[in-house]
Amino acid sequence: MSAALARTVHDPVDRLLSRLECVKQTGADRWIARCPAHNDRRPSLSIRQTDDHRALLHCFAGCAAAEIVHAAGLELRDLYPERPAEHYAGPVHAHSRWSRSDVWLLLQHEAAIAAIVAADTAAGRPVSAEDAERAGLAADRLADAVATLGVR
Ligand SMILES: [Zn+2]
Repeated sequence: MSAALARTVHDPVDRLLSRLECVKQTGADRWIARCPAHNDRRPSLSIRQTDDHRALLHCFAGCAAAEIVHAAGLELRDLYPERPAEHYAGPVHAHSRWSRSDVWLLLQHEAAIAAIVAADTAAGRPVSAEDAERAGLAADRLADAVATLGVR
């Protein structure tokens, strides 16, 4: 691999954090920051980097991952490490609203939100009306995403 290629590879989480305000590291692979998608006075956006260098987002006010990355001037695909092959696949997906990989990303994020709320419920912790509503929205979006992917 040439140095020129290596230079273009950044961890998605770095790219994201550089565009957020009030970023504070809370653990080895965890940060909090102000959510750019709503009027956030105290940092309510949680960011986590997975072992395979994906960036996971959760806004406790209920903003969707897509809304957050768009507000930060990024796309959902920017949360994932770059794969060189995707550059060549670009034109094929250029005019579709959602590529299959975007839908898969959305599925993962919405499933994560639903899982967080379900875990709170299972642990007997009170779930706010806002969180319950957000989990309902996650379920709707999961259903939409599955419909978009289609069953082959
Ligand atoms: Zn938010």
